[in-house]
Amino acid sequence: MKLAYFFILSFVLVFNLFGEVKRPFKEHKVYFEGTDYELNVYKIYGRKDGNTMLIMGGIQGDEPGGFLSADLYSDLSLEKGNLIVIPRANFKSIILFKRSTEADMNRRFHLDDIQIEMDKVVQVIKQLMSEADVFLNLHDGWGFHTPTHINWLRSPERFGQSVIVDTGKFTCDDGTVIDLEGIAKKALEEINEKIGVEDYFMQYFNTNTDDPNTPYSEMKKTATYFALKNLCLPSFGIETSKNLPSDEMKILHHNYAVNAFMKLYDIIPEQPQIILASPEINFVIIKVNGEPKIVSNNSTLLLKKGSVVQVAHIDSNYKRGLSCDIEGVNGLNDKNIPFKITENKTIVFRKDNLEIGKINLKIDGKIEDEHGVFIVKVNNQKKAVLQNDTLVVKKGDVLNIIKFFSENINSEPKINFKGWVPSGINYNDGDDRGYDILIDGNFMAKYSKYGNGSVFPVIAGDSNNILGQFYVKIIE
Ligand SMILES: [Zn+2]
Repeated sequence: MKLAYFFILSFVLVFNLFGEVKRPFKEHKVYFEGTDYELNVYKIYGRKDGNTMLIMGGIQGDEPGGFLSADLYSDLSLEKGNLIVIPRANFKSIILFKRSTEADMNRRFHLDDIQIEMDKVVQVIKQLMSEADVFLNLHDGWGFHTPTHINWLRSPERFGQSVIVDTGKFTCDDGTVIDLEGIAKKALEEINEKIGVEDYFMQYFNTNTDDPNTPYSEMKKTATYFALKNLCLPSFGIETSKNLPSDEMKILHHNYAVNAFMKLYDIIPEQPQIILASPEINFVIIKVNGEPKIVSNNSTLLLKKGSVVQVAHIDSNYKRGLSCDIEGVNGLNDKNIPFKITENKTIVFRKDNLEIGKINLKIDGKIEDEHGVFIVKVNNQKKAVLQNDTLVVKKGDVLNIIKFFSENINSEPKINFKGWVPSGINYNDGDDRGYDILIDGNFMAKYSKYGNGSVFPVIAGDSNNILGQFYVKIIE
């Protein structure tokens, strides 16, 4: 019953009333979830219909060029044609970074039944092959395949840097002739033009799998041979070399090969891809007094009065265009701004102009201990002033405010001597750190504690977000 329901649901999602697939559309399906052979399959339907290419990586787990390249195609969008991507065919062998586990998965395709666990995966792959018009199996092989023997690394027995076919021309049961050699060589022109360096060129490699004299009769057990023989599917093994200088180069060369075949089969990627999924917040990480806490969207966070709050991370299905606005603090974009909470507040989250969530900050009645210290210089003598203490200075002294430390704040906030403005500036950013402040009585008395011009507050942060403060008392 449950299975039937799932089937109907996915049918409704993917197909319209006439059984045609929605376009563009993407589908991600997980088989054998939570097992060593978990299989993730991505189906990408282009804006316009066309050929379907099956791209498979990781059938042998120690070949990262292949599976990391295939992985990148899982996220593609297409203007035309379709992709079925199996980035990691043999997950267990990838985790173990071994070619074989109980067996070599690429020597199991000749079997019709499930004998060991990995054969379940083989059966799913065979099913997916039947939906494709072309199949690429991505591998990393040893050395560099060359038509003639050059040295131990560069010889006809080596598999690296080649496009492999089981035969040059194949005639299917229905009479269709597949010119594997012609297709492979056409792709190779494009691939090698991209590679550019002759030492790394990919070569055409025909294993003549059906030839009684072939040294590669083992290939009858492979995925590509099965697809060709049983499904009349043009199938190619793409091998980069394990001896290329970096994984990045292996991935790049695989990408060149996949792109060249996509071009031949008129499968066109959409660049850049248009993503219009409705934005959602997964969770938010809020630091409370420096301690990160995971907070759900649309929830309430209880806090002690005086706690310092900082939105450190917004986890969403979008990476860019995200902002959070703590009402009444700073501007519209308050991510990573430390904020001392003295009353209930709401944080509003947005993707671009769209509101996507809210978190309420609620004072729970308790009061947070305040630990903070200001570092200042008076007449070039360094001093520490504890939060809420009073620093006594005389007229004629020179005060220089250096920084504010608090265990609850990771960043250094700006510090403002209320009632003093540096001379010769047009825009007062409220940050008086580093200035020599001459104590000459020339301060704006309205900012002083009792309005009589003798005790002035110095605040770290902003007047609507005081992270710490101390007082300067001026005496004659
Ligand atoms: Zn391989």
